[in-house]
Amino acid sequence: MKIVLSDAHCSTDQGAAAHGWTEYKYSCLVNEIIKKYIMDFGQHFNPVVSIVDGGRYSAPAEVRTTTEIVNGIEPDAVIENHLNGSEHQEANGSAVLYYPGSEFGEALANAINDRWQYLPFKERGLKPRGDIYLLRKTKCPAIITEPLFVTNKQEAGYLDFPRGIEVMGNLIGEAILQWWGAL
Ligand SMILES: [Zn+2]
Repeated sequence: MKIVLSDAHCSTDQGAAAHGWTEYKYSCLVNEIIKKYIMDFGQHFNPVVSIVDGGRYSAPAEVRTTTEIVNGIEPDAVIENHLNGSEHQEANGSAVLYYPGSEFGEALANAINDRWQYLPFKERGLKPRGDIYLLRKTKCPAIITEPLFVTNKQEAGYLDFPRGIEVMGNLIGEAILQWWGAL
C-alpha cells in the first residue's frame, strides 16, 4: 500500500484562517498523525506513506507542483486534508470531496465519510467535484477532506482540544486502512 498525504495550501497562502488556525497549520499536523497511525498498524505489511509538503512552493504553482510530485510517486491514493471556510460564521459541517466517476475515489470518500459520524459535526456527505486541479489531474484516486468549518467558532474550538486533531487523524487513518482491505 502506497499512500500520499498532501499538505493543503502552503506557508505563503495558508488557506482559510480563523480562530487561531489555518488550513495549512491543521493539515501539516493531521497528516503526521495519519502517517503514524497507518505505519503503527501496518508493521506486518510495510505500507509506504509519503507526505508531500507544497509549502516550499508559493501559490498557485504549489497546486501544480504537488500534483506532479504525487503522479511521480504513483501511489494507490492521495488524501489532502483541508478545512472549510465561509463568510457566514454559522456555516458548519463535514464533507468529503472526490472526482466524479472515480469508483475507488468514491469508495475511499465513503470510508472517510462513514468515520465522520464519530465527530461532533453535521455530516454534509460526499461531494463530487470535477473542477479541483488535484482531483482532476492525479492519476490515482484523490480525496479532499473537510471535517469542519474553521470560520465557525464552535467547530474550530475542536482543534484546540488536546486530542482533537489526533482523533480526526486516527479516524482518517482507519478509513484508509479499511478502504485498502487491511481492517
Ligand atoms: Zn483548502
